[in-house]
Amino acid sequence: MANPSLLILAGDGIGPEVMDEVKKVIGWFGAKRDMAFDVSEDLVGGCAYDAHGTPLTDATMEKAQSVDAVLLGAVGGPKYDDLDFSVKPERGLLRLRKEMDLFANLRPAQCFDALADFSSLKKDIVAGLDIMIIRELTSGVYFGEPRGIFTEGNERVGINTQRYTESEIARVARSAFELARKRGNKVCSMEKANVMESGVLWREVVTKIHAEEYADVELSHMYADNGAMQLVRNPKQFDVIVTDNLFGDLLSDAAAMLTGSLGMLPSASLGLPMANGRPKALYEPVHGSAPDIAGTGKANPIACILSFAMALRYSFDKGDEATRLEEAVNKVLADGLRTADLMGPEGGTPISTTEMGDAIVAA
Ligand code: ATP
Ligand code: MG
Repeated sequence: MANPSLLILAGDGIGPEVMDEVKKVIGWFGAKRDMAFDVSEDLVGGCAYDAHGTPLTDATMEKAQSVDAVLLGAVGGPKYDDLDFSVKPERGLLRLRKEMDLFANLRPAQCFDALADFSSLKKDIVAGLDIMIIRELTSGVYFGEPRGIFTEGNERVGINTQRYTESEIARVARSAFELARKRGNKVCSMEKANVMESGVLWREVVTKIHAEEYADVELSHMYADNGAMQLVRNPKQFDVIVTDNLFGDLLSDAAAMLTGSLGMLPSASLGLPMANGRPKALYEPVHGSAPDIAGTGKANPIACILSFAMALRYSFDKGDEATRLEEAVNKVLADGLRTADLMGPEGGTPISTTEMGDAIVAA
């Protein structure tokens, strides 16, 4: 059987720096765990604009559509701030998401034991936390029509429309239930069915999909405002949370920060299954290109390394190997190794991007 294929798009700023460390990890899995990947690399974002005058060429887009998973670093930087909107680095990433139809955005909030003290929240609230927020990414109020700023009588009115079709709700609900089966087997769906029609339909469709296809998974419903409160009060009550584009934007940012630094947070964006049964998939750290620290060796590579762990789990059915990698990260942190972003008020000497990558491979 052919090796699984990976397209690496390291991008701009610290993207290539953190991706170099992921390549070491991929190399380790090939050498030590007999898991070879066919890795190809290409350009996205500002570097693609510099080379080709576009943040994503058609050829790269085609490659992304044909591989088993795409691993992306970060795009953008001050050098590109004045570019025309149509060729901005971020447009490369948006095109990937749109054309691959990546409708399920997975953002874990996971607290590594070694960092439980680092969080600003009480240790007993976050220690051992391991939840997953699934945000619908391709529809809802960010895309619904009508939208725009119109004139009504003698004043202007800004309009956005929250719009969800049954099939859009159904497919992201299925992603949530599938994921829950690989985790704690529990889904909490969040909307505001008390005040929004889209929320009423959301709750109805999720309930129906659950009853017909996933009755073995525990399902609960929560109004999203209560959900926000519960996430901060007692996040460990959740396993998988599924919600719409807008609520997911807010809830996933809030949940992510339960656990510490931006430099720790991975993400996955998944689409429909391909012919081989694997979902269309793009994995990337939550952080951006961090131009303020690019080139200084300060970037924390863990978010990008954990994004590869998500690829192992969700694209390649290697959950055990993903856990192995996450345990290596936890061990290194438990040993006290920290990049600069993870230094607490007590201080200490930070290690570099490459030292962190090497330590994780060694662990
Ligand atoms: P984007 O618009 O692409 O999301 P941004 O401007 O919102 O980017 P980042 O580029 O993620 O934000 O940077 C925000 C801050 O977090 C910066 O100070 C940056 O140095 C820091 N930061 C981001 N990623 C990392 C990392 N991997 N390691 C250390 N610090 C990081
Ligand atoms: Mg940002």
